[in-house]
Amino acid sequence: MAARCQEMRRQGVDVVSMTLGEPDFAAPEHVKKAAMQAVADDWSHYGPVPGYPSLREAIAARLNGRYQASEIMVSTGAKQVIYNAIMVTINKGDEVVIPTPCWVSYMEIVKLAEGIPVTVPTTADTNWKITPEQLKAALNDKTRMVMLCSPNNPTGSVYSRAELEALVAILKDYPEVYILSDEIYQHINYVREVVSLAEYDTIRERLILINGISKAYAMTGYRIGWMATKSPALWQAYNRLQGQSTTCACTIAQKAAEAAYLAPQDCVEQMRRAFEKRRDLIMSLVAELPDVTCTRPDGAFYVFPDMSAYYPRLAKHLGCVSVGSREMTEYLLNEGHVACVAGADFGEDRCIRLSYATDEATIREAIKRIAIALKRLG
Ligand code: PMP
Repeated sequence: MAARCQEMRRQGVDVVSMTLGEPDFAAPEHVKKAAMQAVADDWSHYGPVPGYPSLREAIAARLNGRYQASEIMVSTGAKQVIYNAIMVTINKGDEVVIPTPCWVSYMEIVKLAEGIPVTVPTTADTNWKITPEQLKAALNDKTRMVMLCSPNNPTGSVYSRAELEALVAILKDYPEVYILSDEIYQHINYVREVVSLAEYDTIRERLILINGISKAYAMTGYRIGWMATKSPALWQAYNRLQGQSTTCACTIAQKAAEAAYLAPQDCVEQMRRAFEKRRDLIMSLVAELPDVTCTRPDGAFYVFPDMSAYYPRLAKHLGCVSVGSREMTEYLLNEGHVACVAGADFGEDRCIRLSYATDEATIREAIKRIAIALKRLG
């Protein structure tokens, strides 16, 4: 969709994009300085496979004493961390439980490992969160992993402490199952506390904790993510895989990431506040759209409105028997000149994803255009 958007812009069409999967802010100044200093200081050689010890210590220092630097692995973005972690744990035929809507790459990476993604559809009624009953029903003796993501992409849902405790109580009875917790949006949240699965002793031995600098520090292009694990076997296997694939994450980016973790965290809070204002703005505008419902996101920078009330009208307009979120996003792009992502890409065809990682004027313009395009459908 981002590519289509660029192509239309090249043709002179004024397209508003709500597709961005990354903060629109620049990286913090002190981080840029650290990167430039790393270049000047010749951090230009291969680094250790799991990452510089100083970076792994800076990460461990942010994990409340739960992990040692030796239990951390640094890779090229959280995506590579997830890829590596799945490659070293999932064998052919292993089942991986994934609540949907979810980030597109989870299922594709599991398939690359010849695992079987077992998707568990969640609904707006539970704020897009898997219930303990659903989790229990999805687990069996072929299950090797459960993947959780809070705050979630694309729904923005955040699991409360009570909700996580109820899931942990179920997982306790399945000691063979790894739990991959993708907490990349941890710091972009609008609730009093975002609980990390790392808090739970009962599952910590098989927890694969994932995080990174991409979203919290607006450093997506630096490509630094990390994993923490208590399993020496998993750590070693991951280390071997990385050693024979990328060797190590970019050394300059590692030094910049170290600066991001060691410096005061005001920049993270400033960006969080800006996102919260935008969340409130976009929610108030989406609420004005007739026949559109939308859960209130507690984190990340996406809203996930349900557009399905318009599908029969759109089908009539297009002369099709039935349509879904892909046709809706095509219609909004072609008729409204607003680019957004189809919910089908995340496993929920009733919805579309709008990113509010963009300025307030763009948010207002996008929703205005969507309102006009929807009105045309009657
Ligand atoms: N997990 C989720 C849920 C994401 O949305 C993303 C990025 N869109 C990633 C992981 C990957 O992050 P990174 O850029 O650090 O690879």
